[in-house]
Amino acid sequence: MGQEKKLALITGAGRGIGKVIALQLAKSGADIALTDLNPELEDLKSELNKLGSQCLDFQVDVTDPEAIDKMVSEVVGSQGRIDILVNNAGITQDNLMMRMKAEQWSKVIDVNLNGVFHITRAVLKTMMKQRSGKIISISSVVGFSGNPGQVNYSSTKAALVGFTKSLAREVGSRGITVNAVAPGFIDTAMTQALNETQQEEILRQIPLKRMGMPEDIAHAVDFLASEKADYITGTVLHVNGGMY
Ligand code: NAP
Repeated sequence: MGQEKKLALITGAGRGIGKVIALQLAKSGADIALTDLNPELEDLKSELNKLGSQCLDFQVDVTDPEAIDKMVSEVVGSQGRIDILVNNAGITQDNLMMRMKAEQWSKVIDVNLNGVFHITRAVLKTMMKQRSGKIISISSVVGFSGNPGQVNYSSTKAALVGFTKSLAREVGSRGITVNAVAPGFIDTAMTQALNETQQEEILRQIPLKRMGMPEDIAHAVDFLASEKADYITGTVLHVNGGMY
């Protein structure tokens, strides 16, 4: 990152991959706007402050467009800009297709895809005025490979690729880059929910023979958010230990 302090807004930053992305971007010199469903972000805020990062936090549901617009106005009001948006918030509600309830389908689409639409549209106005910005969405290996029991989740993660490629073409002339990171299986609460047999099966498919760590994803996001990636847009960076 360059000399000027950047402002990074990260969704779902309270734990897992989002939390480590916040810490990594702070280490690279950014101020951070944390958003999460869970309001208990005090410990993370003080860690970020120790890294020299100014930190704002918001309890926002990414499926609530009004709350998002209010939050984005507050961030722009206090910081004057938004340089980096990381669309990280995401959920799973797994079930085999034959058993999947309409609510499980809709909820996952609402958080993982509609949420990205709402917040990106809200932030884009500011980035267009600035004529600069980096938008990075967290997709998934299963959006490419498919995964039984995850037709809802993998549909949203594949959709983020179309979202990324189309938006990159729309806003490139304004100096805004749009990319995605597609993690493999990363050691967080989301994958700790898998049973031992499922975890062993996954490990068998990973040439590097380990689950990824949130830091592996945070490093990829940090790169795409940096000036080193200024000429990269509309791409997906796969971070999966070689499994896809
Ligand atoms: P996680 O530990 O379950 O954390 C998800 C975060 O998203 C939590 O902070 C959660 O908030 C937040 N969130 C959920 N619903 C939300 C909503 N409606 N509005 C705002 N925030 C919401 O998951 P993770 O493993 O870190 O995953 C982060 C991202 O990486 C997700 O998009 C996921 O799909 C993707 N990913 C993960 C893996 C993996 O192996 N872990 C692999 C590929 C892709 P609360 O804490 O308040 O619930």
